[in-house]
Amino acid sequence: MNTREFKGKVALITGASRGIGRAIAIELARNGAAISINYNSDIKAAKETQKLVNEVGVKSTIIKANISKEMEVKKLIKNTEKKLGSIDLLVTNAGIALLSKKPLELNYRVWKETMATNVDGTLLPIKEVLPGMIKRKFGRIVCISSVAGLGMRPNMITYGTSKAAVIALVRNLSSAVAPYIRINSVAPGLIETDMIESLDKKARKNIIENTPLQRIGETQDIANTVCYLLSEKSDFTTGQTLVTDGGRVPLP
Ligand code: NAP
Repeated sequence: MNTREFKGKVALITGASRGIGRAIAIELARNGAAISINYNSDIKAAKETQKLVNEVGVKSTIIKANISKEMEVKKLIKNTEKKLGSIDLLVTNAGIALLSKKPLELNYRVWKETMATNVDGTLLPIKEVLPGMIKRKFGRIVCISSVAGLGMRPNMITYGTSKAAVIALVRNLSSAVAPYIRINSVAPGLIETDMIESLDKKARKNIIENTPLQRIGETQDIANTVCYLLSEKSDFTTGQTLVTDGGRVPLP
């Protein structure tokens, strides 16, 4: 997409310093939105995202906040609104994947950290932006889940459960916030980012061979799907999870 569809709109993207979040920030900027770039630890990467967003010629701001902490999320929303105005578009993208080496490795510390970042970190920004969106009778939300939330991956029990919770949250919230607010989820398959850097050559080859579209996804693939779900082109769609994985999802 390269329209001015989001001109005059303010977008907040959590975890926009790197990877998929950065691509979403740039794509929304290209389509005219002012961008709030949230990050947690990597200020250098967040500044690089801002540079790329500014090159497009829209307003932007960078805000540090750990999205699993309620008070930090409250400040993130408040500061975004102070700097750019009311939030119209929210993308909850920040997430972590701490994968187990052995199939049945259920580590409670990893579980708590994963749930805090991926589940609380999805709920908290939504909870904070909803009252304003309801008042203004306008809001578009997209939550980044994962195909791991839909499938059976023995080394992804914790991560997959956290992403299944995101999918269920979207589904259940959608009717509660309709008709003025739409909320959907994007479930990426494997996407080329820091998150998958530990995958070796053999695993990559195997994944590509088992992907009908014969490649690993790019961050732009996800940014395009997110943009569609935030745009008026998807005006009759809410509560859904749009899988963007090259066709691989039915495979175990
Ligand atoms: P990534 O390259 O590792 O980037 C993660 C981003 O999330 C960074 O901007 C990071 O900020 C931020 N983040 C992590 N914890 C945070 C916290 N507590 N508070 C605020 N920000 C936090 O990951 P990615 O691959 O782009 O993943 C983005 C989303 O897509 C995640 O939800 C992930 O689960 C999902 N996903 C990814 C894939 C894949 O194959 N890559 C597949 C399916 C789903 P800092 O830079 O400041 O650390």
